[in-house]
Amino acid sequence: MTFNPFAFKVPGEVIFGANSISKLPEILASRGLSKVLLVSDRGLEAAGMVKKITDILDANSIKYSLFLDVEANPSCDTVDNGTTIYNSEGLDGIVCLGGGSPMDTAKAIAILATNGGKIQDYEGANKFQGPTVPIIAIPTTAGTGSEVTPFAVITDKKINYKLTVFSYEIVPEVALLDPEMIATLPALVAASTGIDALTHAVEAYLSRAASPFSDGMAEQAMELIGRNIRLFVANRGDADAASGMLLGSMFAGIAFSWARLGDCHAMAHPLGGFFGVPHGIANAVLLPTVLEFNALADKGKYEKIYNYIKRGKNDNAFIPEMLTRDLKALLEQLGIPKTLSEVGVKQELIHEMAVDAMKSGNIMINPRQTTLGDIEALYQKAL
Ligand SMILES: [Zn+2]
Repeated sequence: MTFNPFAFKVPGEVIFGANSISKLPEILASRGLSKVLLVSDRGLEAAGMVKKITDILDANSIKYSLFLDVEANPSCDTVDNGTTIYNSEGLDGIVCLGGGSPMDTAKAIAILATNGGKIQDYEGANKFQGPTVPIIAIPTTAGTGSEVTPFAVITDKKINYKLTVFSYEIVPEVALLDPEMIATLPALVAASTGIDALTHAVEAYLSRAASPFSDGMAEQAMELIGRNIRLFVANRGDADAASGMLLGSMFAGIAFSWARLGDCHAMAHPLGGFFGVPHGIANAVLLPTVLEFNALADKGKYEKIYNYIKRGKNDNAFIPEMLTRDLKALLEQLGIPKTLSEVGVKQELIHEMAVDAMKSGNIMINPRQTTLGDIEALYQKAL
């Protein structure tokens, strides 16, 4: 076994527990935040989730402004609109309620509020001066892990391009994990976001940038997700399964904050940019194809992943194909579409998508070296 040089810290605080959202007032007070922007989306408003938070804020006389116009695959314009509200109302912090889209938007607003300019100016790693606006993040999926990650992904709709901003300055100050906040997810959202979280753990685990720390986080994530994803999709009201998934996605988020990801995420972003495929679905459909491609580079971790997701015992000697076979069976059980065609992806844009995928830093740390031609072939195979 070889070891990469590494540094590791977890910049934000994690608070977990049933009804932990009730701690929001004391969390805000402890950080001197008295007038916040609540960033969320219209779906969560309609589901009554936004009201759960505003009721707590109202009951404690905490002032807030609302920004709920966040769409799936949020755009640069959305970030600008949220920043305008933040700046015009003299606010001092952000409470973010959501899956990945409100989280990404909140992080981007936090950057622009203190640095000005456009989010496109900050694409890449550490392209702005910190600190940014403090964010309290309350995840409603399990999930992106965005509540503990230093990434914001925003779509430039003019060029159908998903740009990634990376900085530890945008890791939320507090991740408030309340399993009751994911209890009413639709089954397909629970399934696709859960597989996204599993993909974070798997790609971080196989990454050429993995370290013993990130491996520990990824293994914990895979154990929790492997044990709970079927139960959670079957019954989102299962408090233990919801807790396991929420914690698993958080651990996966910490793992990939440091070890990064791989070809699956590099290829998922253009599917969102060009065809609006939700991030979780894009990764879930691609993962078996990418794992088949990467099997050639396996140094023994495939068997560990397999042991986390398999059902029952298997007495046969392990070969990497067993992982992709069982993963496909799991995806089918969870109701994930089998092909990219089923989610509206068209063959004509494979080359453009592959060119964009190759711009991702995740290609460089994928376990198997990957060319533009490889990516085109993988899209074709997944189609
Ligand atoms: Zn993801």
